[in-house]
Amino acid sequence: MSKTTTSITPSISSPKKPITLDDLCFDNRFVRELPGDPETKNFCRQVEGAYYSLVKPAATVKPSLVAYSCDVAGLLDLSDESCKSPQFVRVFSGNELLPKMQPFSMCYGGHQFGNWAGQLGDGRAINLGEVVNQRDERWYLQLKGAGITPYSRNADGLAVLRSSVREFLCSEAMHYLGVPTTRALSLTLTGDTVVRDMFYDGNAKPELGAVVCRVAPSFTRFGNFQLPASRGDIDLLKKLVAYTITTDFSHDFPDQDSLDQGSVDIAEPTKENILQWYNKVSERTLDMVLHWMRVGFVHGVMNTDNMSILGLTIDYGPYGWLEDYDPTWTPNTTDASNRRYRFEHQPQIAHWNLLQLANAILPLVGDEDSDSNEGRKALEATLNQFAENYQTRHLAMQLEKLGLKPLSAKQTLSEQGHSDDAVLVTDLLTLLQSVETDMTLFYRCLAEVDVSSSTVLTSKEYVSLLTDAYYQPDQLTEEYTLQLHQWVERYVIRSESEGVAQTQRKHIMNAVNPLYVLRNYLSQVAIDKAENGDFSGVEELMEVLKNPYIEQEGKKHLAEKRPEWARHRAGCSMLSCSS
Ligand code: AMP
Ligand code: MG
Repeated sequence: MSKTTTSITPSISSPKKPITLDDLCFDNRFVRELPGDPETKNFCRQVEGAYYSLVKPAATVKPSLVAYSCDVAGLLDLSDESCKSPQFVRVFSGNELLPKMQPFSMCYGGHQFGNWAGQLGDGRAINLGEVVNQRDERWYLQLKGAGITPYSRNADGLAVLRSSVREFLCSEAMHYLGVPTTRALSLTLTGDTVVRDMFYDGNAKPELGAVVCRVAPSFTRFGNFQLPASRGDIDLLKKLVAYTITTDFSHDFPDQDSLDQGSVDIAEPTKENILQWYNKVSERTLDMVLHWMRVGFVHGVMNTDNMSILGLTIDYGPYGWLEDYDPTWTPNTTDASNRRYRFEHQPQIAHWNLLQLANAILPLVGDEDSDSNEGRKALEATLNQFAENYQTRHLAMQLEKLGLKPLSAKQTLSEQGHSDDAVLVTDLLTLLQSVETDMTLFYRCLAEVDVSSSTVLTSKEYVSLLTDAYYQPDQLTEEYTLQLHQWVERYVIRSESEGVAQTQRKHIMNAVNPLYVLRNYLSQVAIDKAENGDFSGVEELMEVLKNPYIEQEGKKHLAEKRPEWARHRAGCSMLSCSS
């Protein structure tokens, strides 16, 4: 039996044969294999015993294209010509369905800001179907902002241009940074007006409506498992776990029956399979968060309904990028008082979210009647492993940013003449916070500093080499300068032990420390232009962010620290869930 494979790190090689929209090959496995809602009318309701509701996108007044991603089109084998066609705009704004599409919205629940919120579901996301490309990769196409669904609750199912630009650009930027993420095919304007009260302060105003077409190997979230578990619907829960292991995790479970087109048998996983699968989910989640910490990304709303089972960054809302290194920062004004989703807290929140997933699947692996309760213990062991692995991998990642390889435990303890690596990293992170320091620029500047001990520099000279990274020159006191110098001296000794030439060291560091990130104010500048019908800002960012680690000629203005005017401007430093 030939296997239908799903890859989460697909190649972006050009398609074998560019095709048109009409040639897209759909195989709507999710709808075919999992229980659906028998009700087909579109009104808000609780949906039980089902994983999705069939629902059509809403027609819009005057759809038009803002931008599309050539590389994502390539994943679908779509020709450039078809992406520029009027049909492309109609299809990906929700105004035309291709014959094999089977649009549906997913039913899931979630913990929002630490509290169980019950049924949530795709309130404004409509999946069009699953495309299988010529490399046998499977991609869900999903419109965000295409109208109300049974899960819209009191909201309108729509999205505005500013948040859609942010989602479109960031999905793609994250991919090029090497961060696991959902992708974005297109960004269209609907021609409709959408009223939003951006800061929930009584200042509602009309904005431009927009739709993003998101693309991912799966949009299943932790919340998809939590909802049936919360309702005691173990049968339904079992079906999704079996389905997910067989399909989304087929690489990890090659012995599980894979679903080919037309096949209906999903092998029931053993308890052992489920525990192994949970372990994989935990590993992928760890990997994702570690990348966020490396590049300075703050998700902003790490609710369990926004956690992808594949460990992809999903649901770009009030996210932000650290500019000055402040681990307590969150861009989300809705979370301003508790800062639950602040930068430094993301690993703990990922762990907490994994615990909620463990609670959801416990009935499938636990045996409450047995004293030993092996299933529960195995889930707990995975959670403990997450915490342990995070510590080790976080240190390794921080060292990598400094161009250093982690030492073995033996080396660390031996008399090597250099200080403990963990202390070296912690001391640097303390220094970065002690004066306003741009995280992204600091590491790029540091890579330029020649750390061979023969090059003896004064404290002032070191600071001046890093000057681009500092926001407030008057903070660079003698005391700070001295502290920095002392740290650099320790770093120089440690760097020398690597035995790597300066050019090589710079190369190694620049490969993990991006120069171009989607700075909050850069998105806002592009949004301001786009709201006036000029999409050149979106296009320029799209292009530059494709190569975030490589300095590009004439693009210095996209790699500069946040200008003063943006410090307190809405959209640049403060965002809300309103989108
Ligand atoms: P989020 O915070 O964006 O993850 O959204 C939480 C829940 O609210 C999800 O179920 C969303 O689908 C839903 N939601 C958010 N905004 C809207 C909207 N404008 N219309 C309908 N549902 C929405
Ligand atoms: Mg969400």
